[in-house]
Amino acid sequence: MDNLVKRAKELLENKTVQVVIGYEAGPTGVIRPAFITDPEKAGKLIYNDKCDQNLAVYLTKKEVKNFGKMAIVATLPVMRSIMMLISEQQLFAESIVVLGISADGNLLDIADINIMQGYIEKSDLSNPEKYKALLAELNKLNPEEKFAYWQKELSKCIKCYACRQACPMCYCTRCTVEVNQPQWIPVQANTHGNMEWHILRAMHLAGRCISCGECGRACPVGIPCHLLTMQLTDQVYTYFKVYAGTSDKMNSVLSTFEPNDKESFII
Ligand code: SF4
Ligand code: SF4
Ligand code: SF4
Repeated sequence: MDNLVKRAKELLENKTVQVVIGYEAGPTGVIRPAFITDPEKAGKLIYNDKCDQNLAVYLTKKEVKNFGKMAIVATLPVMRSIMMLISEQQLFAESIVVLGISADGNLLDIADINIMQGYIEKSDLSNPEKYKALLAELNKLNPEEKFAYWQKELSKCIKCYACRQACPMCYCTRCTVEVNQPQWIPVQANTHGNMEWHILRAMHLAGRCISCGECGRACPVGIPCHLLTMQLTDQVYTYFKVYAGTSDKMNSVLSTFEPNDKESFII
C-alpha cells in the first residue's frame, strides 16, 4: 500500500504525529503490530487481509501514548473502537490521526471525526457474517443445552486474561477480577469461577462491544468468548436499536435511563 506508507511518512516528517500504529510482517512473515516513529521506517507498514488485529487496544496504553500524538491504521472495527474510547473519555479526538482502510483495503480520506462517523453510519454494523452462523446455531439450543455448551467451553479457561488484554474496551486500570477486597471473582480457574468471570466480562461489554472478534482470536485454548459479547450485541440492538461505536457521544445502554424504556424483561 504505497499511499499508506507515503501518508505515514508525511505525518512523521512534518511532526503531525510522533508514532504511527499499523501492521508489519515479523521476521517469520507473521503479521504483527508496528509502532513506527522514524519516517525512514514507514516503508515497513503493510496492509492485507491478514491484518485483522484490532489495533485500537494500543490507544489507551501509556507506553504508546508516551510517544505523543498517534496515527493509527484503522479498519471499521478500529474506527468504531475509537468512537467508543472518545465517548467514554479515554481518548481525545485531537490526539489521533485516523488512517482509515475501506472494506476493500484502500486508504480512506478521514480528515476528522465527523467524516469517520459518516463512514461508520454507512457501514454494516451487525456482527460479522462468519460469526452470524455460529450465533444462529447456538440460538437453536434450548436454555439447558446452551448452559451445557458454555459450561463445557468455559471449563477450559485458564484465566490468563488474554481475551481482556486484547479488547480495546477492557481498558480498566484495575479490572474487577483483580479486586480482592471484596473478592468478586475466584482467582483459581474452575468451571464455576470461570463462568462468573465470563458473565461479568460479557455484561461489562454489553452495548460496548464493537464485534471485532479479537477476544476470541486471542484465547490460547480456543474458547469462542467473542460469541458471548456478540450475542449481547444482537440483544442490545434488538431492544435498544443501537450499535456500539457509531458516535463520539454515545450513551451506554446499561447506564442510561429513559422514561419510555421497555420494562418487559422485569417479571
Ligand atoms: S469482540 Fe471481543 S475484543 Fe472485540 S470489542 Fe467485543 S469483547 Fe472486545
Ligand atoms: S472485564 Fe470489566 S472490569 Fe475488567 S477490564 Fe474489562 S470492562 Fe474492565
Ligand atoms: S483468553 Fe481464553 S483462557 Fe484466557 S481468560 Fe480468556 S477465555 Fe480464559
